[in-house]
Amino acid sequence: MSDSTPSFVRVRFAPSPTGPMHIGGLRTALFNWLFARHYNGKFILRIEDTDQNRYSDDAESLIYEALGWLGLDIDEGVREGGEFGPYRQSERLAIYHQWARWLVEQDKAYYDYTTSEELEALRVHQQANGIPPGYDRRHRDISDAERAKLKAEGRPEVIRFKMPLTGQSVIHDMLRDEPIIFENDQLNDLVLLKSDGYPTYHLANVIDDHLMQISHILRANEWVPSAPVHLQLYAAFGWEMPKIAHLPVLLNPSGPGKMSKRELQDAKGNVIPVLVHRYKELGFLPEAMFNFLANIGWTYGEDQELYTRAEAIARFDGTHINPSNSAFPADKLRWYNGVYIREKITPVDLAERLRPVLEAEGLTVDERKLQIMTPAVQTRIETLNDVIPLAAFVFRDPMAFTPATAEEHIQKGMDLAAVRKVLDVSQAFLPTLDYNDAASMEAPMRQLAVDSGFKVGQLFGVLRHATSAQQIAPPLFDVFAALGKEETLRRIQLSVDVVESALQKAE
Ligand code: GLU
Repeated sequence: MSDSTPSFVRVRFAPSPTGPMHIGGLRTALFNWLFARHYNGKFILRIEDTDQNRYSDDAESLIYEALGWLGLDIDEGVREGGEFGPYRQSERLAIYHQWARWLVEQDKAYYDYTTSEELEALRVHQQANGIPPGYDRRHRDISDAERAKLKAEGRPEVIRFKMPLTGQSVIHDMLRDEPIIFENDQLNDLVLLKSDGYPTYHLANVIDDHLMQISHILRANEWVPSAPVHLQLYAAFGWEMPKIAHLPVLLNPSGPGKMSKRELQDAKGNVIPVLVHRYKELGFLPEAMFNFLANIGWTYGEDQELYTRAEAIARFDGTHINPSNSAFPADKLRWYNGVYIREKITPVDLAERLRPVLEAEGLTVDERKLQIMTPAVQTRIETLNDVIPLAAFVFRDPMAFTPATAEEHIQKGMDLAAVRKVLDVSQAFLPTLDYNDAASMEAPMRQLAVDSGFKVGQLFGVLRHATSAQQIAPPLFDVFAALGKEETLRRIQLSVDVVESALQKAE
């Protein structure tokens, strides 16, 4: 950003509640929030619900949930209130009507009575004759009498903006050195007030940004084409336009174009969501998301990828944002999350986050087991939900545990008879271990391998399958300690039964 330090910062996140919130929207919100916090300004949430056809009821609560999840606190908004309310556009219709009428009185806008059939005929005609699409300004310069006659016919009435027909609209974007220039004769007379009495995005957005004293607009690149319309609207109202920055849009990582609403996959085939509520469902940490999202389009500096919220706020002054659209780095998300799980949160904190994940799986979370398993899985999971395939077996009801097959117990260089022998010596020895102290188990168990003539890998491998029925499990002695003596021995007995019957069948 080339401008000197702003002294007054009021920014807004202005989503249209048309469905579940997309990750791109959350990134826009985050940048606005960081900018506000950096300058001790205000972060405002305005709900732009003027498109009644696309309105979705629960979208507003999903927006609140998403911002709350990421920890983006709101200074003024629908629920918070504030002196510039209401903050939901559908509750501000009278304001838009008043200003739209004012524009008509000033000859900056006009009533248009073209019917949808006429507009459709126009569109077909333009298409057939290679004429660029758009309203042909047929009611822009008609007399008052003609207008009155059209109105009397009962036609639908809209208010259109009188776009200047000559000259240029020059946008000075905070992120770009060069101005973005539009030729006014290429722009349309857009509708400001629709026949259903609702304003269009352009009218409501400009009026609200002005009345809410927004100082800076930070929004996605896809709104660049609207910028000249907004510039001309500010000019028509005689208002100063807020400073404006168009942020890079997230592109589909695997193909051309904008990111869609379909879930993605990373290189390993893991599901990477794009709707914000799914990240929580899949076990991503808000702290990791915060850091991950901040790095999309913004550079913290010194090649540093990981930083705290406070560090991000301290540096986020509106510079070091690359305006070019960039591919959504889906492949890196699990890496960030893994780092946050391993290095940025304590085992106590992690345990509290794993508990609901295990419970949602229908497991009963025994406190002792949770305390033992949390540090054991902390270095081995990338999302909270990874705890399920890795360690749910520890929490399963004894009746719900299905032992591994006889073959699955077999380790390198063993046959079933050898497996049986390992289980036998283990059954005899395991009762002597101290199940309150996983660390104390390793030395005697290694000795057991030596004494019984098996390799450590063979002994531990058989016992891992016996206790977890899994190829990959947390460290064996943590599992023993978490299960406790009785359950450990019970599972080994189940394996003995399975192997025994396989041996009998083989005879
Ligand atoms: N309501 C618009 C949206 O859905 C807001 C665009 C803007 O920030 O001006 O993204």
